[in-house]
Amino acid sequence: MTKTLSEIWNEVDGCRLCRLCETRTTIVFGVGDPNAEVMFIGEAPGKQEDLGAEPFIGAAGKYLNTLLSHAGLKREEIYIANILKCRPPENRNPLPEEMEACTPFLRDQVQAINPEILVTLGNFSTRFILRTDRGITGLRGQVHLTGRFSVIPTFHPAAAIYDPSKKPFMEQDFVLLGRLLEKRRAEKAQRLVAEKCVQPAADEIRLPATEETSDECFS
Ligand code: SF4
Repeated sequence: MTKTLSEIWNEVDGCRLCRLCETRTTIVFGVGDPNAEVMFIGEAPGKQEDLGAEPFIGAAGKYLNTLLSHAGLKREEIYIANILKCRPPENRNPLPEEMEACTPFLRDQVQAINPEILVTLGNFSTRFILRTDRGITGLRGQVHLTGRFSVIPTFHPAAAIYDPSKKPFMEQDFVLLGRLLEKRRAEKAQRLVAEKCVQPAADEIRLPATEETSDECFS
């Protein structure tokens, strides 16, 4: 049975399933529109997020807000959560046992929000969602399919701040997201036309990117 976000939060609140509970300041559950079409999945809270209990509120968050404009989106229209709900010390990479302990919460969040599109930010969330060992550089720039979700992998905003040569690629990925959203919305409008016998609101919009299908399902 699908849990509500409130039920999931009640399970996460006070969680001590991995050792990150010993070093965290706060649990960073996730934030945004509970009915979002697009859900962003990052890696883990950083220092600012650990203090503020909200994902992507530091420099990477500001850059993410800029990127959203390339997709025609505002921050309040999306939902954002991380693979890990607690900050790893010194922002080190998540450990396999931490991901194993924490990702059931993320799965429940995805099911509760039921977005159409998942945007994975960086290697850890991309590998988890697409169930692949491939790196983000080879996966970005395309729409992937897993289960019922379209997935757009891109770099983590923090990686682009550290290495600005990644920024043009991230911008391309957000333009791709915007086009996919337009296409989905046009398809929905066409379905409404069929159901309600009203005039079409938009012509079909084509996506330039290749769609790649994963055999694995995220469920
Ligand atoms: S990272 Fe996840 S599993 Fe580990 S203590 Fe925090 S909420 Fe629990």
